[in-house]
Amino acid sequence: NLQILLRRRPQGAPVPEDFEIVETPVPEPQPGEVLVRAQYLSLDPYMRGRMSDAKSYSAPVALGAVMAGQTAGTVIASKAPGFAPGDTVLGGSGWQRFSCVQPGSLFKIAPDDAPLSASLGVLGMPGLTAWVGLEDIGRPKSGETMVVSAASGAVGQVVGQIGRIRGCKVIGIAGGEAKCRFVTEVLGFDACIDHRGDVAAELDRLCPEGIDVYWENVGGAVQRAVFPRLRDFARMVMCGMIAEYNDTTPAPGPNLMSAVRKRLRIQGFIVSDTGWPRYPQFRQEMLGWMQAGRMTWREDVVEGLRNAPTAFIGLLKGENFGKLVVKID
Ligand code: NDP
Repeated sequence: NLQILLRRRPQGAPVPEDFEIVETPVPEPQPGEVLVRAQYLSLDPYMRGRMSDAKSYSAPVALGAVMAGQTAGTVIASKAPGFAPGDTVLGGSGWQRFSCVQPGSLFKIAPDDAPLSASLGVLGMPGLTAWVGLEDIGRPKSGETMVVSAASGAVGQVVGQIGRIRGCKVIGIAGGEAKCRFVTEVLGFDACIDHRGDVAAELDRLCPEGIDVYWENVGGAVQRAVFPRLRDFARMVMCGMIAEYNDTTPAPGPNLMSAVRKRLRIQGFIVSDTGWPRYPQFRQEMLGWMQAGRMTWREDVVEGLRNAPTAFIGLLKGENFGKLVVKID
């Protein structure tokens, strides 16, 4: 058997010495296990996270262990009910040719409805990522403008095509002329911006009304160009920030990658949108708490209207202590 192990944790960009390639005997399935021969291994950006022991949404690969990864392959031998030699399966078998796995981690798939490798891409985790992220968060509507970063990649290519199917104007962002041409000519996006050029200027030209849905795959400079061009009520689907995965020191400012890792929901609002029609209900509940002694409040009362400017200037410097009001003489 051929296996690729994690030898050490990368500092910055991974290098070949971080891995170890070993030959081992083909394992024997134990009762309840299935022996799978992988035909395809999926390589995905999340694996960079698994190589690191920084806190994340899933456990790191242990040093000396087989690198984690999804494979598509064939059952060679089975000691588990429901699986027989010859079955085509998807599973998390890792970077190795043969593996003995629990059937619970395997999906049996039809062998002929699509090329096997597609079940690791458009029909696999990346395709599912695109579909779920748009269904749950992006919610593209006909006539809207969608921008997709890493547009020629596994996830991005599916995102943009679903956007087109939903009737959006779709602008991709990708690295280099060949990828950009593929994105427009083969995938059918309306346009594609090369992120090695002036992304901000191109966004202004191609999305003069702004952006309704932004699919974030990269972060970094691309994110900084897109973010100020989001329209009111835009949806930013935080899928990944690959441009920063090799960073050894965090970029300044809040890092939106934590929105992905912690599944945060970040949504803006303005009280006047929906608040005032509910004022009577709010007032009744709040008065109840105040009268029951469950709500206290502090005011900072400034005497005299002519003191309003100084008080206001102080407010912006933290000189008020409590709710600042002016008592008009
Ligand atoms: P891709 O097939 O898109 O390959 C990665 C691409 O990222 C590269 O080809 C490159 O495209 C782009 N890229 C790499 N470095 C940079 C950089 N410094 N600046 C700008 N672009 C860069 O990978 P996937 O489609 O598999 O993954 C795309 C994103 O989706 C990743 O961030 C990944 O972590 C995330 N993801 C998240 C999931 C989730 O559940 N949240 C699930 C699956 C993926 P180019 O040359 O065009 O720049």
